[in-house]
Amino acid sequence: MSGDCVFCRILRHELPAAFVYEDDDVAAFLDLYPVNRGHTLVVPKAHAADLMTCPVETAARLFRVSTALAPAVVAAVGAEGFNVWTANGRVAGQTVFHLHLHILPRFRTDTFGLRFPKNYPQEASRAELEEMAAAIRARA
Ligand SMILES: [Zn+2]
Repeated sequence: MSGDCVFCRILRHELPAAFVYEDDDVAAFLDLYPVNRGHTLVVPKAHAADLMTCPVETAARLFRVSTALAPAVVAAVGAEGFNVWTANGRVAGQTVFHLHLHILPRFRTDTFGLRFPKNYPQEASRAELEEMAAAIRARA
């Protein structure tokens, strides 16, 4: 655990949080700054800054717990759907550098959304897609 990490401090109960789930490896608590009611964060108990530094089995557990929790979150707030995502790196919107998955309940009337580039959507060429796929496969 990292001494000054806010999520580690929550996990050590040095800071308050409204927990909704906890096991040996994973905990979930409500976001202090919810985008929507029920906005839940699912975190590994062992500090990992992001998905890239988290053991893959722990990352898999985060997704497993999120999948199991999401219906309860949705039911508790009467949402119509939900997003599950994680931000990796400041450029991706990460602000707390302790890996966390967001379970974000969604409502037809909420004004939250992803902002697409101005020229979106623009269909990629088949050659461009094949070239990119090859580049990714070569590094996987
Ligand atoms: Zn931490």
